[in-house]
Amino acid sequence: MGMRITHLGSGSRGNSTLLCSGGTRVIVDCGFSLRQMESRLHLVGVEPQSIDAILVTHHHSDHSRTAKRASEKWEATLHANLETATKMGWQPMSECRTFGGLDRIGISDDLSLLPIPVPHDDADNVAVIATNGDGRRAAIVTDLGESTVELNKHLIGCSHISIEANYDSKRLMAGPYPESLKRRISGRGGHLSNSQTALILAEALTDELESIVLCHLSEKNNAPHLAESEVLLQIGEEYSGSISISKQDGPEFSNWLGQGEPERVGSLT
Ligand SMILES: [Zn+2]
Ligand SMILES: [Zn+2]
Repeated sequence: MGMRITHLGSGSRGNSTLLCSGGTRVIVDCGFSLRQMESRLHLVGVEPQSIDAILVTHHHSDHSRTAKRASEKWEATLHANLETATKMGWQPMSECRTFGGLDRIGISDDLSLLPIPVPHDDADNVAVIATNGDGRRAAIVTDLGESTVELNKHLIGCSHISIEANYDSKRLMAGPYPESLKRRISGRGGHLSNSQTALILAEALTDELESIVLCHLSEKNNAPHLAESEVLLQIGEEYSGSISISKQDGPEFSNWLGQGEPERVGSLT
């Protein structure tokens, strides 16, 4: 059994990732308009009404924007932790199922999700490790200032890792942002730099790892070639799988667990 991981788009203007395993379909984050969410799902041949569940990692609007409306319209179960639900004004139980950090969420026999708390601003954010029916794992890790011991542990042995490479340190420091914002982005509760991401990947690297997607790149403080070259500098010698970049306007490709090379989304090529 495989699992398909498709970034419907990623960046500061919106994030959403589609996971399909067996007959189960889950969305991690719902940060685009409802119309955009639906048209992006159609591009990869998925009926919005077939989505079983939506998990929101944290309350920032680029991840949560239309999650509740989508869950109602598509009759998909909405999942968030208590702080996110509270900040969004979602009623636990009636509107949204709440989870605790490291509590596995069983969606079906084909797919379960493990939320792992990560440090990020005023948010109770989580990284997500998705496990398919064969026990193979894919990680989605965005919006964190640094990794944690717990996250590093769970990344080891994953077959796929999607992880943010938000900024290039030199570009951020030389760029137009005010000093306070630069400090916030590069601080413990901000985002990962290319070099932090490269080091996390170096620690997580095993023979199982077949595909990496770098996501949530800042349009002002980063560039795809900078992110990719920084990661290759760290792991290029030992890593033989694929590295792709997920951009703001997607979806461009899908990764299948057990398959190194991503598959292009037909209608966009
Ligand atoms: Zn955020
Ligand atoms: Zn974000």
